[in-house]
Parts: sequence; structure tokens; C-alpha cells
Amino acid sequence: MPNSFTFDLPAYRTIFGIGSLSQLRDEVERLGSTRVLIVCTEPERRLAEQVAVTLGDLAVAIFDDAVMHHPVETVQAARDCAADVNADCCVTVGGGTTTGTGKLVVLETGIPLISVPTTYAGSEMTPIYGITEAGVKRTGRDRRVLPRTVIYDPQLTLSLPPQASGASGINAIAHSVEALYAPDANPITSLMAVESIRTLGRALPVVVREPGNLEARSDALYGAWLAGIVLGSTAMGLHHKLCHTLGGTFNLPHADVHTVVLPHAIAYNRDYAPDAIGLAAAALGTSNAAQGAYDLAVTIGAKTSLKDLGMPEAGLERAADLAVQNRYPNPRPLEREGIRELLHNAYHGNRP
Ligand code: NAD
Repeated sequence: MPNSFTFDLPAYRTIFGIGSLSQLRDEVERLGSTRVLIVCTEPERRLAEQVAVTLGDLAVAIFDDAVMHHPVETVQAARDCAADVNADCCVTVGGGTTTGTGKLVVLETGIPLISVPTTYAGSEMTPIYGITEAGVKRTGRDRRVLPRTVIYDPQLTLSLPPQASGASGINAIAHSVEALYAPDANPITSLMAVESIRTLGRALPVVVREPGNLEARSDALYGAWLAGIVLGSTAMGLHHKLCHTLGGTFNLPHADVHTVVLPHAIAYNRDYAPDAIGLAAAALGTSNAAQGAYDLAVTIGAKTSLKDLGMPEAGLERAADLAVQNRYPNPRPLEREGIRELLHNAYHGNRP
């Protein structure tokens, strides 16, 4: 048992279950809203139309131009769209890119957000937002961007392709692993993190093998919900900072980078957070969490090397430099040579 901790979780109204999208209209009415702007990316348009049908006359427009990393121009267009139709509520349906766009709409307009996530990224449970201006992404933290209700309907994740599902799920596992050794972890976040790793570790191979298996989809989404809560409530360490740097600097896909780096980030920290990493290992059903994360990636057919994601080998030195530029909490001190070795192993996809 920890000797001391601070427990300060926001109130997350969550509606979870197969078919729960049918409760969306009630949730909008509960807020007293009557004019909903639906936000999504272009490929998520079909999901948005399904949401519009559910909302009936409460849906006034669909903005389907959400873009990864949220360029300021796109965000402005979404806000203009909300103003043009006099929206008094924003509903997002899609992955982290879409949720993030909705957060920026509500941050400045003050209208409430309802989120319907369809990946395992977890953004809907965090007060973190990001915006890119003149090629530079900045992030902020503000509880006003938290959705008033989050609806998790596993049915909406059935169309997420198997490869994307697997990587997105390991992205969620990464939140939970780092939450276990976060300096601001508390007993509740640790319980959630362990449950999340256990559930995702079991569900993901089934989701990838049988993408239409609703029970496995439901388990994975449940694990992702827990992972999202701990992501929003604890300070992430080297793994998340490294993935942020690699993704932003070398334009690599978000969830895949997490999948490749996680085993090596765990190996880097292993001897400095043995209890936390031991819990992660047990939740993965192994005695070695780094190998467990690697083997899970292999089982789900994910890419395991930065090389295969298109990272240039010449970028490894720069990535190592960037990783030690800022200070952030991490069990093992940020040592350039150790991080360079981590990157070498991640680049080649070596089993830790
Ligand atoms: P994403 O939102 O970019 O989605 C990946 C792809 O899957 C997109 O093409 C999307 O249109 C498609 N898609 C989503 N749901 C689908 C479905 N059900 N069926 C078919 N296709 C579907 O990727 P992501 O991994 O969900 O989110 C990544 C982004 O979210 C990154 O920019 C990351 O920085 C951000 N993020 C932010 C936070 C936060 O706390 N602010 C947390 C996690 C992720």
C-alpha cells in the first residue's frame, strides 16, 4: 500500500455497452441542447451519418474535415461551422484525431462536448488538447475540454481494420504501463491500469483474428476506457515523450510508433520500477513485461521496427538528442546513451 497520494479524478459520465449509441439523443437533451454539430474525419463520415440518424432533428450539421495534429486552419473551420449553424452542442464520432478537434471547438465556443470514440486512443478521457500552428504543435491541459458524456458502443469499432485495432490497443496498453510507474499514480489509477492491461492483452489477439467478434471488441474498448482515464490522470514518462517526438519529427503513424517503442521503453525502465513493471508483466501473463509487449505485437501482426514504419536511420541521433532536451518524470534518469541504444533496438525491431 502506498504511504501517501492525491486522488483527484474528474467526474467522467460514461455510458458503455453494445447499442449504447441509442442513448445519445437523451444525453444531448439532458444538456438542454437542441442543435448538434457532429465532427469526424472524412473516412469516418459513415459513422457520423449513423449518429445523425440517431439524433434526428437535433443534428444540424456534419463537419467531416478533422485532420491529424489539428492544424489551426482546420480548427478555425470547425469553429466557423459551429457558429454558422448556431450549434449548442458538439458530438464527435471517431478516433483521437476527431476527439481532439471537438475539444478545440468546445474550448473556444464554450458549448458542451459529447464524445463517441471508435478507436482505443483514449483522448476522450483526458483534459489534454493539441493544436498545430505554422508547423509547430503545442499542447495544453484544461478540464473544460473534457466531454460531458462519453458513449462507448463496441458496435462502432467493428469497422476499425484489424491492424489499426491492434496498434491502437497497444497504444492504450502503453498509457496503462506508464501510469503504473507515474510519480502521481494513486491506488485507483493503478488498479485501473492493471485491469486495462489484462483486458487488452487478452482481447487484442481475438479482435485482430476475428474483427467481428463483438465480445472481444467490447473487452478491448473497456480496457481502452480505463487506459484513457489513467492517461488523463497521471504524468506520462519516456515512452510517451519519445513517441511524441518520433511521430512529430519523422511523421510516423501514432499508434504504430507506440507499438514499436513500448517493449524497449519498458526494458529501459525495468530495473528502476521493478514493482510497477512486475504488475504490468503479471497483467500480460508473463514474467517479463518488455518481452510480453513485444510478443503481443508479433501475435497481432503489428510492425515491430521503426525501420518498417519508414523512419530514416540517420534520424536516430537526432531523436536521442531531442529525447533528453526536456526534463520529465521517468523511473530511470534520461541518459542519452541508454536512449540511443533503446532507439537502435526499436529501429531494428530486436526482441528485448
Ligand atoms: P485517428 O483518430 O487518426 O484514427 C486513425 C484512422 O482510423 C483514421 O483514418 C480514422 O478515420 C480511422 N477510424 C477511426 N475509427 C474508425 C472506425 N471505427 N472504423 C473505421 N475507421 C476508423 O487515430 P487514433 O490513434 O485514434 O488517434 C491518434 C491521435 O489522437 C493522435 O494525433 C494523438 O496525438 C491523439 N491523441 C490525443 C490524446 C489526448 O489525450 N489528447 C490521447 C490519445 C491520442
